[in-house]
Amino acid sequence: MSTFPSAPDGVAPLVSVSAHLERILASITPLRSIEMVRLADAAGRTLATSVDALVDLPSFDNSAMDGYAVRRADVVDATSDAPIVLDVVADLPAGAGDAVSIGPGQAARIMTGAPVPAGADAVVPVERTDAGSARVAIHAAPRPGHHIRRRGEDLRAGDRVLTGGMELGPRRIAAAAAAGLAELPVVAVPRVAVVATGSELVEPGAALGPGRIHDSNSLLLAALVAEAGCLVSEVRRLPDDPRLLREWLETRAECDAVVFSGGVSVGAYDVVRQVLGELGTVEFVRVAMQPGKPQAFGTLPDGTPVFGLPGNPVAVAVSFEAFVRPALLHLAARADVLRPTWRVAAEVGWRSPAARRQYMPVTLGADRGAPTVRPATAGGSGSHLVGGLALADGFAIIPEDVEEVAAGDVVEVAITR
Ligand code: AMP
Ligand code: MG
Repeated sequence: MSTFPSAPDGVAPLVSVSAHLERILASITPLRSIEMVRLADAAGRTLATSVDALVDLPSFDNSAMDGYAVRRADVVDATSDAPIVLDVVADLPAGAGDAVSIGPGQAARIMTGAPVPAGADAVVPVERTDAGSARVAIHAAPRPGHHIRRRGEDLRAGDRVLTGGMELGPRRIAAAAAAGLAELPVVAVPRVAVVATGSELVEPGAALGPGRIHDSNSLLLAALVAEAGCLVSEVRRLPDDPRLLREWLETRAECDAVVFSGGVSVGAYDVVRQVLGELGTVEFVRVAMQPGKPQAFGTLPDGTPVFGLPGNPVAVAVSFEAFVRPALLHLAARADVLRPTWRVAAEVGWRSPAARRQYMPVTLGADRGAPTVRPATAGGSGSHLVGGLALADGFAIIPEDVEEVAAGDVVEVAITR
């Protein structure tokens, strides 16, 4: 039988969440490798350097409406009772390329996005006309420049479109395309290995023998890693056997970070503590948070950053949010590694431990249209309540010096769903 290991840090002072995060971020160097990718392949990647528009946007004056391009001076007196009739000298669909101009008494039928002909200084929507073909009756006077989208009013060539360190998403990729770019410089995707430890773990769906549980952490972590824009290079489930863990460390595929769950505490079979502890480059600390107190961070012999998270699934989700996600975003050279938080009223009250930062899984609600939160489960922030995680929209982050949240109190919330 194994004995409890001596736990010299059992009485060590707690490290604050921010100090632990700072130490992690300071020891991680962002990936330096940059590649050019086509816009269609850019979603989810991190933009390596800022990029500027190559063309004016719009790149020519064009119509904002289906209607008629006119010389405003011709139609200033037009009303529905006294329409002014113009000759239609051109028909301009979107994509029309011929140089067209209109003179006094003339109009061009024009569709949304078509270039405004020379001589025209306003567009009259078709609804304000008789929709004529050879001749058109104008029923209302346009304002100067009305319904004309001016060249460069959105961006000018040379203007900054996207800033280095941004995550590329649908809207940013669309802006780059419109600004004339075909490819973007992006940072390499961090490769992350996920290892769940525990002799009690079995494959989800497998029959549960006595004392066994379904492994949920490896799925949780793999999905969180992917959600953070990283590549899951490997997912393993290992029993609490130091020999197997050492063997995995020696044979693992190359990656940029490793995340373990379980086995970091002071139990007799806590393999991650035992094996990573031998390296001398991984620190095991107690962090002033709830859940998630036991944490490990350091580097493997080849310099790869390694995280040892507790085994309880809610603690895993919280530890990932507090430490691993910011670290992976930093590795990916993101400018913003912290999620924004919002101040939201608590629907009900709950208790928070003294001198620890609480991460309470919460569900969003609404009170007469204003957002509210309430604990996702009746058991609150209990670190084993993985079923309740399904109901969580995010975490309420309760400061160290608060011991009680009362109904109606405003709390800080990170929305994660
Ligand atoms: P540990 O940190 O290894 O002491 O584990 C703490 C608790 O988390 C124990 O109740 C474990 O059974 C549970 N646990 C550990 N790993 C997992 C996992 N991969 N999936 C679900 N529960 C786990
Ligand atoms: Mg364990």
